[in-house]
This record gives sequence, C-alpha cells and structure tokens, in this order.
Amino acid sequence: MTALASRAQALLDGNERFATAAPQHCHDVTAQREAAAQSHRPVAAVLACADARVAPELVFDQGVGELFSVRVAGNVPARAAVASLEYAVSQLGVELVVVLGHEHCGAVTAAVEHVTEGTELPGELAALIDRIVPAVEATAGLPGDHVHHAIVASTAATVEQLRTWPGPLSDAVSAGHLEVVGAVYDLDTGRVRLLGPPPPPEPSPDPLPPTT
Ligand SMILES: [Zn+2]
Repeated sequence: MTALASRAQALLDGNERFATAAPQHCHDVTAQREAAAQSHRPVAAVLACADARVAPELVFDQGVGELFSVRVAGNVPARAAVASLEYAVSQLGVELVVVLGHEHCGAVTAAVEHVTEGTELPGELAALIDRIVPAVEATAGLPGDHVHHAIVASTAATVEQLRTWPGPLSDAVSAGHLEVVGAVYDLDTGRVRLLGPPPPPEPSPDPLPPTT
C-alpha cells in the first residue's frame, strides 16, 4: 500500500469507528491540543460542506491537528477555499485532499430547485449555487433521486477542478505529490463512500521504431 493509499485508508478506518460508535479521538482532547500546539502537520486536507452535520474530524475520527478542514456550503471550490488548499499542499506538505460531499445537502438541493423550479436565492448565495448548477443539469433525467445524483456529480467535478487548478495543486498532482479524491458522506448511516480514485497513469509506451 502506498503512503497515499495508507492515508486514505486511515480516514476510512476512522469513519468505520465513527459509524460503529467506537471513536477513539473524542477523548484526551487536551493532550491532543498540547501535542499539536508546536507544529502543524495535518495528515490530509478536506474540502467539506459547511453543513453542521458534516464535521470532518468527527466523521473520520481524527484528532486535533490531523485534518486541514476547509468548509464551504456545497463543498464548491470557491476561490478562498482553493487558496486554503494551496496553502495546505505547498506550505504544510499535505499529500491527500478529500472532497467530501454529503447526502441531503441543502446547497445542492437549492441548486436543483433553482434549475427545476426557478427558485431564486438572495445575496451571495446565488453565485455559490451557480457553481453547482452544471452538475444539476448534467444529471437531469437520470433515474432515481436527482439531488443524490447531483451531489455525486458535483463532488466529482470539484475533484477534477482541483486536480487541474493552475498553480500549486495541479503542479503537485503532476509531480505525483498530491492525490485528490472524492467521497460522499451518508448522514443516515454515518458512512463515507469513496467515489474512486482515478486510474493510475499509464506508463508511456516506448516509441515505435520508424517504419521503412
Ligand atoms: Zn451540504
């Protein structure tokens, strides 16, 4: 198992503890705080929704200082969120970013209602919801729950956007120093499902000999 796969598995193991009511990191938070006070070396970064029911440290059963958590409604890659992830990767050496969508997401539901019913949202919310609309439109007509499909599609789209975002993120991905994965958290079961890492890059084929 590679170091990156090991980090991802550690988060899934933590989620298993959370989902089965056996968390380890909710104890001794004072000791965790004291141990983490002098250095900032998170094991992963998470771009999660701001939904109060989706707390990455709890969902992945991680202690103080272990997750670099960036939270925006709908877990969209807003500019400040991307800048925060760039800091985690370029300055803190984070090698794994998890984009964490979740079922029953209010932001995605609002985007679906905006597209299907013409619902308008006030203030800055309109611009935020616009970031989710392409995933809503791309999943229109699929059998089953439109909100669920849009949540998965929006999360996957954010993963792709972060992988290719010009600057520290795409540079780190290209250098093999960063993996960005998508996941969806199920509020009903407490479990996180990975959307699946991208296939490993194919080795470059040897150039064919010139034909004569
Ligand atoms: Zn949400």
